[in-house]
Amino acid sequence: MQSLLEEQKQQGLLRSLTSSEPAERPGWIRRGGQLQLDLASNDYLGLSRHQPTTADPLIQAALNCHASTASRLVVGNHPIYPRFETALAELKGTEAALTFCSGYAANTGTLAALVSRHDTVFSDRLNHASIIDGIRLSGAKVQRYAHFDLGALEKALQNSPTTGRRWIVTDAVFSMDGTQAHLTELVRLKHQYGAYLMLDEAHSAGVFGPQGAGLAHAHHLQSHIDILMGTLGKAYGSHGAYIAGDRVLIQHLMQQARSWVFTTALPPSVVARSLLNLQQAMQMDQERETLQLNAKKFREQLQAAGLNCGASSTQIIPLLVGSNENALRLGTALQGAGLAAIPIRPPTVPAGTARIRFSLTAAHRWEDLQHALDTIISTCQKLELGQ
Ligand code: PMP
Repeated sequence: MQSLLEEQKQQGLLRSLTSSEPAERPGWIRRGGQLQLDLASNDYLGLSRHQPTTADPLIQAALNCHASTASRLVVGNHPIYPRFETALAELKGTEAALTFCSGYAANTGTLAALVSRHDTVFSDRLNHASIIDGIRLSGAKVQRYAHFDLGALEKALQNSPTTGRRWIVTDAVFSMDGTQAHLTELVRLKHQYGAYLMLDEAHSAGVFGPQGAGLAHAHHLQSHIDILMGTLGKAYGSHGAYIAGDRVLIQHLMQQARSWVFTTALPPSVVARSLLNLQQAMQMDQERETLQLNAKKFREQLQAAGLNCGASSTQIIPLLVGSNENALRLGTALQGAGLAAIPIRPPTVPAGTARIRFSLTAAHRWEDLQHALDTIISTCQKLELGQ
C-alpha cells in the first residue's frame, strides 16, 4: 500500500482532503480556512442554502425526523416517501419514481437489477463511474464507444448479437466536460435497433427543460427514455437520487435492486427537503436562463483568451491543461487567489486531459465571475498554460 501511495504521489495523482464549509455569502465557501468563490460545487441553483418553510403537517413532521431507522421494505417507509415520489413522477411525466440513497446507488443497483449477463450494454466512454460499475455488476457484455461517436455506436449495434437485449446508457450532461448527449440521435438508434435507453440526468435535472424537468424534456423526448435517472444532491440542493419510469420498472427495482433493498432508507428530513427544493426549483426558469447565459459568457471569455474549454455547452466548464502537474500548479495558484478551483485528474478523466472543472451556479453574481475570469486568464498567462 505504501509503495502504491508513493507512486501515486510521484505521478501527481495523490488526492487529499481539505475542509470546506459554506461561507456567509451565497456562492462562496470557506476552504482550508480561506474565503473562496465556489467554482466547484454542483449546487447549480443555489438551493443548498434554501431555507424552506411549509404549512403542510406531513412535510413539517418529516423535516423533524432525522433517522429512517430501517430499509424502506421494513419500517423505513415514512409517508414523505410516496409524497415525494408522486411529485417527482408528475414532474417527469412517468407512471412512477423511486428514491435511492445516492446516484451511485441508483446507477449500480438499477443496472445490476435490469441488465442480464446475456445482454449487451452500449456505453459512452465518458459515462460516470457509477454507470461503469453498474454494468460490471450486471455481468453483461459492454461496448464502449468514443465520446459522442454515434457512428461507432451504430456499428456496434449492428454487430451485436440478437439473442440478448440491448441497452444504451448515457450521461445527459457529462460531468467533467459539460457536453450534452445527442438525444435525438440516440433515440433514433434506440428505435432502429430495438434497444432500451437509460439517461443519467445528474447534471441536467433541475437545470434544463421547463420547470427544470431535465434534458429529455428540453428536447420533448422524455417519452422515449425507458429509464430516467437523476440526483438530488446537485441542482436540488439535498441528497439522494431517483429512477423514474413505468410502474413495472419501479416494481421490479423494489424487488431486485440490491442497493435499494439492502440499505437503510434516507432520513425523512432529507426527503422532505428534496420535495420542498424540487417545488422551488420548478419555479426557477428565470434563474436557469441566467445560469446558461453566464456560462456562455464565461466560456467565451476563456476561449477568447486562447484557453481550451473542450466542447462544453453547459454550466460545467472545463479548462483543459493536459498534464497532472499543470492542473495541480494552476489549481494551487487559483486557490491562492481566492477561487475554489479544483484540479481533476485520472482516473476521473482520461490520462493527458487533466483540467480544472469550473461549475457555475445561480448563486453567483456576474461581478464575482468576471473577477474570477480576470484571475484565471492572468494566472494562465503567468504559468504559460494553454496559450
Ligand atoms: N451520475 C453522474 C453523471 C454523476 O456526476 C454523479 C456524481 N458526481 C453520480 C451519478 C453519482 O451521484 P451521487 O453523488 O448522488 O452518488
